[in-house]
Amino acid sequence: MNVDRTIKLKLSVSEEDKEYLKKTITLFNTVFNEVAKYGFEHKTHSKVSIHHATYKDIREKYPELPSSLVQGARDIACEALKGVELKLLPVAKPFSSIRYNQRVITYYLQYGRVSIATINGRVKATFNIPGYYQEYVNWEVRSSTLKYDAIKGAFFLHVIFRTESPEPSGNKVLGIDRGIVNIAVCSNNVFFNGNQIKNVRGKYAHLRKQLQSKGTKSAKRLLRKISRKERRFVTDTNHCISKTIVNMPFDIFALEDLTSIRVQNRKGKAFNRKLNSWAFYQLAQFLEYKVETLGKRVIYVDPRFSSQKCSKCGDIRKSNRNGSSYHCRDCGFQIHADLNAALNIAQAGISCLSRVSVNNPNVATI
Ligand SMILES: [Zn+2]
Repeated sequence: MNVDRTIKLKLSVSEEDKEYLKKTITLFNTVFNEVAKYGFEHKTHSKVSIHHATYKDIREKYPELPSSLVQGARDIACEALKGVELKLLPVAKPFSSIRYNQRVITYYLQYGRVSIATINGRVKATFNIPGYYQEYVNWEVRSSTLKYDAIKGAFFLHVIFRTESPEPSGNKVLGIDRGIVNIAVCSNNVFFNGNQIKNVRGKYAHLRKQLQSKGTKSAKRLLRKISRKERRFVTDTNHCISKTIVNMPFDIFALEDLTSIRVQNRKGKAFNRKLNSWAFYQLAQFLEYKVETLGKRVIYVDPRFSSQKCSKCGDIRKSNRNGSSYHCRDCGFQIHADLNAALNIAQAGISCLSRVSVNNPNVATI
């Protein structure tokens, strides 16, 4: 299976080359508009017929635009015409982003350099790949789009990288209980607590109350700023936790399926907050995203009883759980309530897998 990732690179270019790049972009878009107009007027989006009708004229009219870029402009004009089924005339703005095919752009990813064809030969640009994306250096570049941001006066390359995800091999299951006090508790006894998030929230809670009572324009602006900051903090935390989890020596990560409607046995305030919280979905999304390139996977299990059931003997009793502690009235087992839930989730994951295996005739048996 292929995995694609897009990243945005900010280019450093000399002032002189910036002008060449700008002119290349506007000329590309001029050609796009001319080709689109021809196709629209002649009711065709065929690359071949539009090519025959327009290529020679355009090359004569704009000899400075490399032929690969003329063809690129034609190709996306044809795709745009096809996209609107020839009902509208697609129009590019002077600084609409332009697509580069592999022949007119060359990457030296490990050196942070790229050479880009323009109306004045190749232009060299440099960029920084953030540490977070370093792994892409070894991936295949699938497509490149150049964009000029007139407000920032800067050029950006949107690059799609592709790699093949490894075949899933093992089947060691890790159960993960998502929560509020503990953001995640794993069945291997690793806890990720939410103290930091709680502190950040607490820090702002008082300020927020004051601002809300004020109700002025500037107070509202400040409120929005605070929620953005909080959100970013939660996102960073989720990135960090998910990265640590996927690198643990497990192949399958089991989470509760919170979208399941059969949650009547995990009612209560805390669970409702779980259901409503985007942070829980974000953690799951980050896990799914990160396992893709590792040959691992995320599965979802029925959330019923995972906090009430004894992970040792299977006894289900609401009174076994008291806050953060779990004490089984049947077998006497005592454990942290969230770890007990994580163990149950892992168990559910394992039985979910064995059900799949039974139905799969290709599975080797001992
Ligand atoms: Zn028990």
